[in-house]
Amino acid sequence: MARDERGVTPQSEDFSAWYNELVFKAELVDRGPVRGTMVIRPYGYRIWELLQADIDRRIKETGHVNAYFPLLIPQSYLEREAEHVEGFAPELAVVTHAGGKELDEPLVVRPTSETVIGEMMSKWISSHRDLPMLLNQWANIVRWEMRPRMLLRTTEFLWQEGHTAHADEADAMRETMLALDLYAGVAREIAAMPVVAGEKTASERFPGARRTFTVEGMMRDGRALQSGTSHYMGTNFADAFGIQYAAESGELEHCHTTSWGMSSRMVGGVIMTHGDDKGLVLPPLLAPYQVVIVPIGRGDQAEQVLQPAMDLAGRLHRAGIRTHVDNRPHLSPGFKFNDWEMRGVPIRLELGPRDLAAGSALMSTRLGEGKTAVSLDSAAARLERELAAFQDILLQRATDFRDSHTRTVDTWEEFVDAVKTGWALAFHCGSSECEDDIKAETSATPRCIPSEGPPEEGLCVRCNRPSAYRKRLIFGRAY
Ligand SMILES: [Zn+2]
Repeated sequence: MARDERGVTPQSEDFSAWYNELVFKAELVDRGPVRGTMVIRPYGYRIWELLQADIDRRIKETGHVNAYFPLLIPQSYLEREAEHVEGFAPELAVVTHAGGKELDEPLVVRPTSETVIGEMMSKWISSHRDLPMLLNQWANIVRWEMRPRMLLRTTEFLWQEGHTAHADEADAMRETMLALDLYAGVAREIAAMPVVAGEKTASERFPGARRTFTVEGMMRDGRALQSGTSHYMGTNFADAFGIQYAAESGELEHCHTTSWGMSSRMVGGVIMTHGDDKGLVLPPLLAPYQVVIVPIGRGDQAEQVLQPAMDLAGRLHRAGIRTHVDNRPHLSPGFKFNDWEMRGVPIRLELGPRDLAAGSALMSTRLGEGKTAVSLDSAAARLERELAAFQDILLQRATDFRDSHTRTVDTWEEFVDAVKTGWALAFHCGSSECEDDIKAETSATPRCIPSEGPPEEGLCVRCNRPSAYRKRLIFGRAY
């Protein structure tokens, strides 16, 4: 296969085409037979597994336990919380027939699990001694998608959903912020995505939530990606499902609940945060292969080099480095280099007869600063350092990109200009009509009211009324 058949449209030419070609060519996903569905291929699934393992560890370390709830939920459950059903109605897939006949009550394929988990919590919670109840489930969910985009918006996707019940607002809010911090940590420390944490405005809230918080990442086209959300429900779901407990006084009280989720769209976030013209650039902590060894040589030489390459891979494996030897025959080294470059492998090692004789391999990184000889004897320690540095560079590079594409603006002209290429930090009056107007004019929406930064007062960038939030909001176009 020629280079141009494998390569992708450069990101700098057409970001959208680049993304849409890359997810398939890098063998991350394929289209499912039903429009809007997605097959996650082994290379893409490994990225998700690495992310999932880290999220799961953090969830457990903070005192939560995993459970599993049914995929099918009685439709009447969703109807018990008015905002919830209204918000999700357009996205629901409903099962009306099963076992060869029409069902008495339609069942929805879960779009999220507040209702069924709320129902179970009402059975399991009776006393203040049962609180807090800290549950999480790993699951697939279905939200019918009219404008699907692989990994970012698909009809079915994978996620975790935390669901917790608490005695009072203060404890539930602590939990809501704990989950938000957890997501910010995962994004920054594992995915090298410098997300901004903050609260959503009322119009961007989760259906049924009293407050919604988010971590937002900036993609390399300047758009925002909502990367994880955490919701404080007040007693909305406790009221709807009768989640009550006897307080120490003996009085019956409603619980305050939370829910929070991070999904497989994070894989899309990694692609769009770090990728470049040549393809994926994977953070080492999420790379299926952190190091790929390409043996160089033809005929007898190839065999001479293969065993030492396998030995080296074995040593790197034992040091905890995910290593792959590309021994595909009949493919040129040049083809293999391009292939792994497109697939985002952080470090490539070339091992030829001459390198072997010198007791070294030639290292190049995906960020491409030429080739360096690495001693085979000390390769594991050296590569560990290189991978850690690579991870740090990605976070720094993404942070610099975000900062250089974020502008503090006070006039409408500046605002319009800023959201063409990135984010605008601007005051807003808090009216949802004004938000809609801004969206109609620029496609930008309020991404969040950032948690960090000092209070500030000013006038709405669109309508000049006083700011409603004592903070500048982040506005941007979003996925
Ligand atoms: Zn306004």
